[in-house]
Amino acid sequence: MSIDFGELTFSFTPTRTMFIARCELGDEWQPGELQPFQNLELSPAACVLNYGQGLFEGLKAYRADDGRILLFRPAMNAARLRAGCRRLSMPPVPEELFLSAVRDVVSENSDYIPPNNDGALYIRPLVFGSGAILGVAPAPEFAFLVYASPVGPYFKGGLSPIRLLVTRDFHRAAPKGTGGVKAIGNYAPGMLPSSHAKRKGYAEVVYLDAVEERYIEEVGAANFFAIFGDTLVTPALSGSILSGVTRDSVLQLAAERFGLKVEERDVSIDEALGADELFCSGTAAVISPIGCINYEGQDHQFSGGEVGPRTRALYEALTAIQHGDAPDEFGWVVEV
Ligand SMILES: *Cc1c(COP(=O)(O)O)cnc(C)c1O
Repeated sequence: MSIDFGELTFSFTPTRTMFIARCELGDEWQPGELQPFQNLELSPAACVLNYGQGLFEGLKAYRADDGRILLFRPAMNAARLRAGCRRLSMPPVPEELFLSAVRDVVSENSDYIPPNNDGALYIRPLVFGSGAILGVAPAPEFAFLVYASPVGPYFKGGLSPIRLLVTRDFHRAAPKGTGGVKAIGNYAPGMLPSSHAKRKGYAEVVYLDAVEERYIEEVGAANFFAIFGDTLVTPALSGSILSGVTRDSVLQLAAERFGLKVEERDVSIDEALGADELFCSGTAAVISPIGCINYEGQDHQFSGGEVGPRTRALYEALTAIQHGDAPDEFGWVVEV
């Protein structure tokens, strides 16, 4: 194996080993096994291919300067995956099976983890209906798979603000739909809005709520935050918003480390345009500062187009914990 860790981006680089376990409908998950990374064999009638019965997760393993390998709150991903399994009529993957599979895949591929600050090993768990079925109903058999890919730092030259476009042409998720879980079917519909935004010179779209088209939901596949003075506001988890691990961590850090007031509630686009700082959060980039939002044809700038001071402080505090560079008073970091 030869990887130039300095050249990594967020593209896919296969690693040596993956994990797979199977479960028949109405039965328990089998223990599963590690195997060489390889293609899958699936029936053309597999439920996941025909009806999208599938979920994914995403988390990272970091290499600390002292050589330890660190996962960030993996039990949160395990819990979110179980909630998603219930929503999509798949047998929930037990927490212990999830955590041991993630650990094993990281250990077996530990030489693919970039050095601290050069990136991370991105871990991608999947659960899907692998069995064949013609009618719309749960698959007779399911697979739980974990693979991994080394990825570079999201912002190569340090944090830089992104430009976003509010879309009135598309919604991401509807109330009482599946926006609150990482259902695979939620993501292909976002590719068209995203490409429209990119063509106009914006990094991503901002989605408004599907009922009133007034409240901010998410930024592409990242959670949204606004700072007004000493108050940090993020949309409440009303069902159509994905419960991000990064989102939850930012809320706790902001309140407990920085003494900010935190509010989970509706944030209208009009209110957000008056914020002091805006950012979005997710595992891939951790925190992305928002420098500009286009709404109804007009660009609005935030923090003078620079990275806001509170956004930067939250980013630095959170990544320092994740990388093992700072004490973790929250007990978030788990050594592999
Ligand atoms: C995964 C995801 C997020 C971010 O969740 P993290 O656990 O922080 O990575 C936010 N929104 C959507 C729609 C997502 O799929």
